[in-house]
Order: sequence, then structure tokens, then C-alpha cells
Amino acid sequence: MVSLALGIDFGTSGVRACVIDTGGAIRAEARADLPAPERDGAAVSQDPEHWWRQLEQLLDELAGRDALSRVERIAVDGTAATLLLCSPDGTPLTRALMYNDARAGNRLADIAAAAPPEAPVHSACASLAKLLWLCDQHPARNAHALHQAEWITGRLTGRFDLGDENNALKLGYDPVQRRWPGWLERLELPAGLLPTVRPAGTLLGPLRPELRARWGLPEAATVCAGTTDSTAAVIATGAEHIGQAVTVLGSTLVLKVLSPQPVFAPEYGIYSHRLGDLWLAGGASNAGGAVLRQHFSDAELAELTPRLRPDRPTCLEYYPLPAPGERFPWNDPQREPRLHPRPDSDLKFLQGILEGLARIERSGYRRLRDLGAPWPGEVLSSGGGAANAPWRVMRERLLRCPVRLAPQQEAAYGSARLAQGLSRRSG
Ligand code: ADP
Repeated sequence: MVSLALGIDFGTSGVRACVIDTGGAIRAEARADLPAPERDGAAVSQDPEHWWRQLEQLLDELAGRDALSRVERIAVDGTAATLLLCSPDGTPLTRALMYNDARAGNRLADIAAAAPPEAPVHSACASLAKLLWLCDQHPARNAHALHQAEWITGRLTGRFDLGDENNALKLGYDPVQRRWPGWLERLELPAGLLPTVRPAGTLLGPLRPELRARWGLPEAATVCAGTTDSTAAVIATGAEHIGQAVTVLGSTLVLKVLSPQPVFAPEYGIYSHRLGDLWLAGGASNAGGAVLRQHFSDAELAELTPRLRPDRPTCLEYYPLPAPGERFPWNDPQREPRLHPRPDSDLKFLQGILEGLARIERSGYRRLRDLGAPWPGEVLSSGGGAANAPWRVMRERLLRCPVRLAPQQEAAYGSARLAQGLSRRSG
């Protein structure tokens, strides 16, 4: 193992950097805000040069603290499906269309005609629709299409023709066959537009010498293929064996489980990323902490949580959606939230919602199991609800497996682990 590894995370509101040692201990951390993306209707975009400037500042700061002089590996994660076109020397030719940019809906019919239904590209927010939209606006030859993490990685290596398997998924890359699929030819993309794709964590090449000198890294400093921010957050938890699962209890409820085989079920929004020798299969329910926010402040949650009674179930059969419509574990665009009857007691109401979310979590892992993923042997929890200990007890009861608070949750930490080298992940 190398001495120190640097992980860089581009999230929705900021960029973070984290340096870890071979034992996984954090040696240094830094964070900077990113400016809010520009919005215009369904269009959400950002100037990629802002990302780079913020990263430069962050690494200048870490170098000033002498935190980088033993860093031998670097990996970057970014928001999935945030895409731009750049020239062969990396100069952005377009703004970056952010992960939640939905302006490219007009290209979905072309994609439906070309791509098989199981490819995770049939959404206006997926990278492929954005790519077609960008190519319409910028018919230049000699362009490269890169995701946020891939472009930043390019800035570090000086090569802009390389991508990673996790980011490439939403562009149509086939992670099972490990190649760009033949159906992409029907879209008549310009030659050389799509990157050569490498597995996450693969060594790509040395850090550019001028950057190495600027930040004082050793000559051996090498940049690795990165990943998406949510995959990096899973790597951060330390999950690495078949059957280890991660439940993210944020605004939505996101489930991921490490599986020996991939699971793809677009009707449920289920897809799989390659991670070392294994697959990370997952889906996201619209239910989640957003419903709690509609009824309770975080201060109220903190006050009520210690008084929850996991040993006394409420028998309220809630399905806590913030608005009608569900995709996973049930694909039902008309599904209504169920939050009645509301008891007089706020405590009981809260417990009913948490029980409802826990049942959705169980149904989600059942859905993944029915489609071929293993049943969790252990669940690591992350996100705003993860620290809720009584809720963990409720969830443990339903899942019939240990539920633990993930010791690390930051994507930057996960990218540093990825750079450190994923161990061979088998049973
Ligand atoms: P996001 O997905 O927005 O990044 P976070 O991971 O920051 O979300 O988590 C925020 C969510 O955590 C909120 O929806 C909030 O309701 C929920 N939350 C905060 N405290 C608790 C608690 N004690 N128990 C359960 N959920 C909580």
C-alpha cells in the first residue's frame, strides 16, 4: 500500500479533499463551497473552470499545511451525470450540464429508438441525452465528452480521453461486457467523442509535473480513475464484502448492496456499478427524510428521538412519501402518501413514520434479493437519519441483521480509499 492517498469529492454544494494513511486514518481535510449552478427552467449548468479554481485553492491550502508531500495516489469523484464537452487539451467547449439538468428531454425519442430498455439512459437527466443536446449545440469535431470527475481527473493528468466505468454507465457504457455497446453507433456520435473507459481505481498516470511541483507531491504521485459521488460515499463506509449493504437515510431512502452479480431493473430505477470484483446494486425510494422535514424540525427530531419506543410498535401502517409517486421498491407513479390517521402524540406520529420507512427499507432489500442480489448480512447506515439509535433497533428487527452507523460517510474519504486500492472483494 502507498503511504498517503488523497480523495477529492465534487458534491452538490461544495468540493472536499481528504488525505488518509494506509490504516484509513484521516491525516488532513479541507472543504470549499462551489457557486450555485445557473438555473433557467429545466436547464441547470455551471462553468467547469469554477470547479478547478476551487480545487486549486483547496489544494494550495492543504499544501500550505504540508499535508500533500507524501501523497502518492489521487482519485476524484463527482456528481453522476454532470457532463461537458472539452477540447483535446481540456479547454471546456460548453458549460457543464449538471446532474439535475433536464433540458435534453427532446432527445429521448432518439435514445428510445437506439438503446435497449434495460440501459440506464432513458431519462432527460442521464448523460446520454445531455450528450446529444450538447453535440447539437456544439457540432465541433475533436471534442471529448467527460463527466465532472473525469474532467477534473484529466486536469490532474493532462489526458482528456479517459473515463471511469462508474461515471460512464449513464452514458450507455456496458459494464458487464466492459465496452461501449454497438447500439450507440445508431446515434452517429462523432468519432473520439466517448472516452476510453477504465475501472474505478485503475492507475491512469502521473500527476502533471507542474502541479506536483506546485503542491509538493512526491515524484511517484499517480492519479487513479475515479467514480461517482454516491459510489464514493459507499466506499467510505468500509463496505467491501458480498452482502454488506448501505442504507442512506437522507432526503430520500437509498439502498445499496454488494453483490457477486449485477442487477439491472430500469422499471424500478435499479442499476449496478462495478466495484473491484463485485457489483454495487441499488435503488432509491422517493420516501425518506424529506417527509420528516415536512412535519418536524431537526431540533424536534433530536428532542423526540430518545423517547422513541422500538419495543412498542405503533401499528400505524404509513407509507411516508413527500408527494404522490413511487419508483422503488414499487413502481407506481400514482402511489399516494399514507400518513393517516395522525395520532395526537407527536412522538407516536414520528415513530409511525420511522416504522413506515423501515418497512420500505425491508421491501427494498427484498426487491433487490428477488432480482438476484444477496440479502444483507449487515447494513451500514449513513445520512442525516443514520445516528438515530432507536430507529436502528426498529430496522434491525425488520431486517433481521445487524444495522450499524457507518464509521465514515464522506465521499472524499471514499475516493481516498479508492485511490489507496480496493482490496480483492470476495465473500
Ligand atoms: P440529504 O439527502 O438532503 O443530503 P442528509 O443526509 O443531510 O440529507 O439528511 C437530512 C435528513 O435527515 C432530513 O430529511 C432529516 O429529516 C433527517 N434527520 C435528521 N435528524 C434525524 C433523526 N434524528 N432521525 C431521523 N431522521 C433525521
